[in-house]
Amino acid sequence: MTRTSFRPCAAACAALALAFAAACGGKSQPTAHHSSPEARLGFSSRSIVQERDAEAKYTAQLSIDSISQFHRTITKRPHMAGTPASMAVAETIRQGLERAGLETEVHEFQVYLSTPRSISAELVEPTKQPLNVREPANPLDPDSANPELVPAFVAYSASGEVRAPVVYVNYGLPPDYAQVEAAGVDVRGKIVIARYARSHRAVKIHTAQEHGAAAIIIYSDPADDGYAKGLTWPEGPWRADFQSQDGNGKYSWFWHGDPLSPGVGARADSKVLDPATVPTLPRIPAIVLSYKEAAKILGQLRGPAVPAGFQGALPFAYRLGAGPAVVHMNVQMDASRRPIRDIIARLPGRNPDRWVVLGTHHDAWTFGGMDPGSGTSAVYETARSLAALAKQGWKPDRSIVFAFWDAEEPGLVGSTEYAEAFEKELRQKAVAYINTDLFMQGHFFGGGTPSLRDFLVQVTEDVPALNGHGTVYDEWRAERKGPKDLEVELAALGSGADFVAFQDYLGLPTLSVQYDFEGSYGAYHSNYDSRYYVEHFSDPGFHVARTLAQVFGVSVMRLADALVLPYRYSRYAHKISDYLDDAGTWGVLKLDLDHSKALAAEIATRSEALERRIDENVESGRWPDKSSASLNDHLTHLEQDLLDESGSPAEHWYRHVIYGWNIYSLYDGQPLPGLAEAIRLKDPARVAQETARIENALRRMLAELRQAGG
Ligand SMILES: [Zn+2]
Repeated sequence: MTRTSFRPCAAACAALALAFAAACGGKSQPTAHHSSPEARLGFSSRSIVQERDAEAKYTAQLSIDSISQFHRTITKRPHMAGTPASMAVAETIRQGLERAGLETEVHEFQVYLSTPRSISAELVEPTKQPLNVREPANPLDPDSANPELVPAFVAYSASGEVRAPVVYVNYGLPPDYAQVEAAGVDVRGKIVIARYARSHRAVKIHTAQEHGAAAIIIYSDPADDGYAKGLTWPEGPWRADFQSQDGNGKYSWFWHGDPLSPGVGARADSKVLDPATVPTLPRIPAIVLSYKEAAKILGQLRGPAVPAGFQGALPFAYRLGAGPAVVHMNVQMDASRRPIRDIIARLPGRNPDRWVVLGTHHDAWTFGGMDPGSGTSAVYETARSLAALAKQGWKPDRSIVFAFWDAEEPGLVGSTEYAEAFEKELRQKAVAYINTDLFMQGHFFGGGTPSLRDFLVQVTEDVPALNGHGTVYDEWRAERKGPKDLEVELAALGSGADFVAFQDYLGLPTLSVQYDFEGSYGAYHSNYDSRYYVEHFSDPGFHVARTLAQVFGVSVMRLADALVLPYRYSRYAHKISDYLDDAGTWGVLKLDLDHSKALAAEIATRSEALERRIDENVESGRWPDKSSASLNDHLTHLEQDLLDESGSPAEHWYRHVIYGWNIYSLYDGQPLPGLAEAIRLKDPARVAQETARIENALRRMLAELRQAGG
């Protein structure tokens, strides 16, 4: 999955103007102070020399040829989760890493997946016209003619046959429906047609279902994802009129992963919920169309002229309907529990029971040229190169674990099942989770928990820029929005990729790292996301992949070898203070956050003192000593203190009180998600409850910080 739209203040914040200001953050933070420009968190000036030497040897292993070759191997066939082709890709990864010298494991889960049996759609009034739900092949990219490709579809769509007049609902979000209703158009029993962008497709399906629509068609409008943005395929990277976007329609704001097994890593014999009644599955049929096909319907709508903001970029004036366009659609899905396979590869450290985890996914809607072939190749190259370094005698202090998740596209299924199955072990042993998914030449993106912000800044300061000028950090800085004196910040992570279970369910310090484009790209979830697209548009020459492999390698090596783990909770505490201040502006309800603000301030002061002491003791060589293992564990677990574990996973799967996601925060992260939702619902009792959850979490954090010596 992954949309490249994590970038704060993109379309997302404009869409629903409630309580999201903090997601777009950007207050002035205390300047990161290093004792010298060469100082690196967790290392003394002596120990970093040896570390840099190992990093240089690692970097020398990285090979663009090897990245390209591996990418070719895994993008030959469509390899949707649950298919033999996906199993074959998983096995290719496992065998390659085993040969490279890593220990590998296969973790099979049995999960509920959904693929099309047959999908058809036809315009039946005012004229009869078939609507093509298959992307036509184009000889420029021979992969597009692969016979294993299936029609464009929405995974987890309900099955059903509907014949009804059509209503155009813009982006298909609640404010759009309010305007459609105000114009006197009734969507009940109708087929609504909504354009992609500004939210996850599942939110559009759910909103249509809530408003009584009989079915939904989602299409890519050229205004958001086509010629109005720039040159289209094959002349440029933007979506051509015949390309459509697949994706999952699962209601993942209840819980992520397998829709039938919240809180349980689903095995063949696991007891699971009934698909007929789970809240995570759509109850109306949904299909996707290209804009060439959608134009056939939209051009035949009459009724009121569209309100401001509804007009897309097709060459006619949009109308709301209903009708006279009538569509007949028939969606028959094949939904069942099927096996998926996560591949784990391990480079054991001297301390094998502490892990640094780097993850990506291997399943794809089609060929996975970019999504996820780019990310899979870069993580594979990192693993291969570190294995080569290990053969030369290098051994990390903590173990490095590489994860290749299956079934990310249906909704982070492989990563979530693994996180649920190994919850206890991960919470005890994992010191950080780093994720990447798709990437392409564009802007550096760093997101995650604020404790790792200074760490990622230092890593990117040590990796040469993609464009050859300066460092990756310089590129990151250049991307900052707002006043120039603002420092770079990690974006709050939302719902778009495999980091979700690790941050929101397990409370691990988490990073998401990639390069992204302008919020979308033309081949996203299309048959045309193939090798051709990567070679011509997204990463010709695989330079982005190589640069990111260097960022990943340096990151995991430093996290594995740091004498004291390089977190900065003082920064985290300041960030929490910012969110608490911002929350006061989210609604009309009076908030009592004074206790939480005082706790955050005390955490900041104590963290700063502890961090000074850590830096001094590491530099002088007094640390590590025999107390350091316990210090490192306390530091790691400070993040877990922010989980509120009351309630069952089915009621409360998103346990992190500071970071998370909800239906109205779109793909972006929503700081203080529970409080934001309570404010949106204007529910004072719930606000009080959420305020207490935040306060309790901060108390746990403060107590742990004291135990750590802060
Ligand atoms: Zn992906």
